[in-house]
Amino acid sequence: MFGLIGHLTSLEHAQAVARDLGYPEYADQGLDFWCSAPPQIVDEIRVTSITGQVIEGRYVESCFLPEMLASRRIKAATRKIVNAMAHAQKHGINITALGGFSSIIFENFNLESVSHVRNVMLDFKRFTTGNTHTAYIIARQIEQAAPKLGINLSQATVAVCGATGDIGSAVCRWLNQRTDVQELLLVARNQERLEALQDELGRGKILALDEAMPQADIIVWVASMPKGMEIDPNVLRQPCLLIDGGYPKNLGTKIQQDGVIVLNGGIVEHSLDIDWNIMRIVNMDVPARQLFACFAESMLLEFEKWHTNFSWGRNRITVEKMEQIGEVSVKHGFRPLLV
Ligand code: NDP
Repeated sequence: MFGLIGHLTSLEHAQAVARDLGYPEYADQGLDFWCSAPPQIVDEIRVTSITGQVIEGRYVESCFLPEMLASRRIKAATRKIVNAMAHAQKHGINITALGGFSSIIFENFNLESVSHVRNVMLDFKRFTTGNTHTAYIIARQIEQAAPKLGINLSQATVAVCGATGDIGSAVCRWLNQRTDVQELLLVARNQERLEALQDELGRGKILALDEAMPQADIIVWVASMPKGMEIDPNVLRQPCLLIDGGYPKNLGTKIQQDGVIVLNGGIVEHSLDIDWNIMRIVNMDVPARQLFACFAESMLLEFEKWHTNFSWGRNRITVEKMEQIGEVSVKHGFRPLLV
């Protein structure tokens, strides 16, 4: 059995969902209540591969909310993640994806040092960040969506915002090794990590976001921001492809400008309907078929019986591993979202 650990995008979202799902006692509560709410299994899932194989899974709501980070309730945030992991393990789930901020909190607060949660000894082999598949899907979205917009990669400048992150650095490696993209712009805040990435790639210009945006034909947003930011579409090139891979979204506003296309980054579409409710709750456009690529990674690991932490740690994703997960992604009927 596979598992997905997820969370909602804001307190307001959580209150609306609680009302919708018939938990009125959660719906009127503030952040303090969510800080103490335990994890819950809220969905049972069946996925059919195009090979005919069928697998079962569970969705674990961690009750983490991004406002916990913004308001420095770090202890509550970290407790949410390890409690959700223990809950998944206790329920016999073999491989579970740490969705959204779960893996970021796990890494940033060194939760690998938490080996016990009450009577459960966490077995990290049963968890995956799902970031290898996410990075692969974003890379394929770049390769497949750019030509549709008339952007030729060999003449294109690609800015990666969040370049030094786990997903951002993997996308940079893919673009560097697998494409002939003309220029790579590396955007993040920590200069030392940017320089280390530039050394590793042997290329790439380090720029601030406001310098990079007007120069880029393609902008990949994979910064771990608890809240989306506003950008002025007038500074963008035309055409410009914006791929927003953040959860919550990195872009705060819907951009409606001729020649500027915004694509939901790191989202896959399955060839067959999935029997579940959870993607309706996170407002996916086609909830029976569309899902986060990190969640799809745990499904792929279950289909292949690779019960191991395929994506783990930070900035270790190789192009070879992206190709490996990409191959089974195609085999089981997943494809990158392109509209
Ligand atoms: P990491 O924490 O590994 O990396 C985040 C990157 O963003 C770093 O380069 C960081 O560098 C940069 N960053 C953070 N804040 C800012 C800022 N304000 N301005 C510019 N850069 C910033 O995150 P991941 O790579 O694991 O995840 C990235 C995003 O992808 C997250 O939003 C996550 O929720 C989402 N995601 C989506 C998935 C999907 O299936 N679609 C799956 C998993 C994650 P620095 O701190 O130096 O600025």
